[in-house]
Amino acid sequence: MSRTARPDATELETVDAAFRAGAEAIGLADDLRTVLATPHREIVAQVPVRMDSESLRVFAVYRVQHSSARGPYKGGIRFHPSVERDEVRALASAMTWKTALADVPFGGAKGGITLDRKELSQGELQRATRGALRGLQKVLGPHRDIMAPDMGSGPAEMAWLMDEYHRVEGYTPAIVTGKPEELGGTCGRLEATGEGLAIAAREAAGEIGLDLGGARVAIQGFGNVGSHAAEALRRLGAVIVAVSDVEGAVHNPSGLDLPELLRRARTGIIGHDGMDVEAITNEELLAIDCELLVPAAVGGVLHGGNADAVRAELIVEGANNPTTPAADAIFAENGVTVLPDILANAGGVIVSYFEWIQNLQNVSWTREHVDQELEARMVRAFGVTHHRALHDGATLREAAYRIAIERVAAALRLRGFEYT
Ligand code: GLU
Repeated sequence: MSRTARPDATELETVDAAFRAGAEAIGLADDLRTVLATPHREIVAQVPVRMDSESLRVFAVYRVQHSSARGPYKGGIRFHPSVERDEVRALASAMTWKTALADVPFGGAKGGITLDRKELSQGELQRATRGALRGLQKVLGPHRDIMAPDMGSGPAEMAWLMDEYHRVEGYTPAIVTGKPEELGGTCGRLEATGEGLAIAAREAAGEIGLDLGGARVAIQGFGNVGSHAAEALRRLGAVIVAVSDVEGAVHNPSGLDLPELLRRARTGIIGHDGMDVEAITNEELLAIDCELLVPAAVGGVLHGGNADAVRAELIVEGANNPTTPAADAIFAENGVTVLPDILANAGGVIVSYFEWIQNLQNVSWTREHVDQELEARMVRAFGVTHHRALHDGATLREAAYRIAIERVAAALRLRGFEYT
């Protein structure tokens, strides 16, 4: 990564800036502002793990519960070496605004274990996952706080979390979402964030007069979100010209061989050997000649030092907090439309909501039903946000935060505010 790759704001500063601007714009009362500016509860627990070598390692697990004004706390648990308290705080707050904007009856939370899963055996990973559940168990529950996958975690970890919870509480599938389908997970959850992103991108493209048919797309990050977004965007007629993973990026201006890249991503690194591509860096990918840019990796990648170089007309945020406030200002100035994370990547938590409903009711939905409901909710969330942006003369991010904060504040007031 080049020197300019250093973000000029942390993820917490990025979310706080969006919240403060939103609170200011809607004239949020000071007492509500104070409560919503910080999380309701934070937990850090030790996760002692007996390693295969018999030595003991102690990992840290975090759970930050930001707000339960609109429903139980909800949000993923991240498995990544960079996990630390402020990052989890930022992500928890973003979940509150995301669930409110998507209008699902949840609050916001986020968790994380500071570990590098590449360094752990499957047995060690399972023991760490179960230890994390035990460390957090007292604050979780199907009507209290429901975890889900996030960066570095997926259905396998959700299965272990659910199983560990069952050991004490008995069968409770609604304790986590994003489970394998065999264990009560919903169909469509794995693809949901990427497919929701494509729906939001289609709606936004329609509004700015961009034809997705033939539009060139660059995607940073080819994990669960980026890879499913690529497939969904391609089904809408877009041409994927660049994708990257942590090791680097590949580019072909006339379109990449997506099935081959998906096959490679499943087995490890995407690489460039044996493919008709040009190898580029992650930083170069952000400035590629394209119509649509999808940052779907980590936070802070678009900042004051590189935003001017972006050539896309539309940025669709698959990752959480990929754009710092300085970059946002440059995009507004340059006429680049940014579809904010709390809208663009809400498909995951929306389908988590469908999974939770199915678990509580002991029913199972068809894929068609999941797809229809996801489509309807993404279209509605985009519609209200776009409408508000036009009405207020605001960016989509500003509008999204204003709507979300108003909804959470209304719930707090109706509950009598001192609701805990
Ligand atoms: N981790 C995902 C997110 O950031 C999904 C959360 C969920 O499904 O609860 O939105």
